[in-house]
Amino acid sequence: MKKLCIIVISLLLLTNFSVELKAEKQWKINEVMNSITKEKLETYLKDIISFGPRVTGSEECKETAKYIYECFSNFNLKTRYHDWSASANFKTYEGQNVEGVLEGDEKIIVFNAHFDSVANTVGADDNAAGVAALLAVAEAMSKFDFRHTIKFVAFSGEEQGLLGSNEYAREAYERGDEIIIEFNADMIGHAESKEGERKFRIYATEDADWIVRRIEEINNATIGFELVKGNISRRYGGSDYHSFAKYGYESIAFFEYEWNPHMHQPADNFSNVNLNYLVNTTRLIAGIMAYLGDAEIEKPYLLLSEPKRGRIYFNGNEIYKLKNTATIIFGKALIEAKANSPYKIDKVEFYIDNKLLYTDYEAPYEYEMSGISFWRHEIKVIAYSGGKHSIDRMQIFWINFKPRQ
Ligand SMILES: [Zn+2]
Repeated sequence: MKKLCIIVISLLLLTNFSVELKAEKQWKINEVMNSITKEKLETYLKDIISFGPRVTGSEECKETAKYIYECFSNFNLKTRYHDWSASANFKTYEGQNVEGVLEGDEKIIVFNAHFDSVANTVGADDNAAGVAALLAVAEAMSKFDFRHTIKFVAFSGEEQGLLGSNEYAREAYERGDEIIIEFNADMIGHAESKEGERKFRIYATEDADWIVRRIEEINNATIGFELVKGNISRRYGGSDYHSFAKYGYESIAFFEYEWNPHMHQPADNFSNVNLNYLVNTTRLIAGIMAYLGDAEIEKPYLLLSEPKRGRIYFNGNEIYKLKNTATIIFGKALIEAKANSPYKIDKVEFYIDNKLLYTDYEAPYEYEMSGISFWRHEIKVIAYSGGKHSIDRMQIFWINFKPRQ
């Protein structure tokens, strides 16, 4: 029986997806997926659970960070603690994220999971399972080189309001990191029914559709989940993916299909994790990461570079930096977009409240808004290149008394 299973699994994994891949890359994807084993996931899961509840700021949480740091270092990733402090719920929190980097030459791909938990539980599914997946994928990928840089990040402060990821995403945004996509795994190991085992949720931001299509292809050729798709808004969200989405990055969040009744309860323990399901969810994530690690980016990279998120402007000058993404503009307002692509950028369109106001055919792509305003607006830019387009949008609060000339 075991032999038959191995043959069936190998056949499944060797099926080609419709994306054209060189045999060598196909082989690499299969290798990465195959090295995600039940034994490995079980070890990581049990190790993380063994620290007990991992409340941000506690000794247990720090010990867990140290364990993740050691794992990343053992995989020869460029490893660091990312210390953060943030205010929420009238309190100041301090914590550590842990980052392991597999360096490539081009853009950045981020895969993350939070390792903190609430107080009364070991948080097996929420989210030791996601961290076990993070470690297993990092280990599998670390045996290879990839074209893009892969950043594996374990976040703390999630349960207090996405605090660790918010600081991390804000710093990436301020540095101008060109992150193609951010993947978040939070609660990916619970399935009680046969239906739950068959299904997996994938939620994505608007420009990540091409990646979702690749996930579907890889899934259909290998694991064969029934994928349940959803959208990620830039304005709200319940896990660390939101920190990236609100700074304008593309994001994909993975979740188990079934509601987990043990979430934030003592019963969220090892015996309530479905290990076979976790193997499959992790393998699918590993496959897409290995594919994307070498992939040609299918959409232009686009960033609304001015105004910046988290600023107050007065007549075109930045006068104050905020720790959130609010943007408040008094007077003159300039919109600027940065776009790049392996192909020529054909044009960049500028919209306010979904009304097309200007089209720019040459860099620098910019437009100065005019008119009277006292309120909130959505500004949006769309870049077209190689038959594809990308969108970036943000909310601004704009106060201007000078009428259009
Ligand atoms: Zn969680």
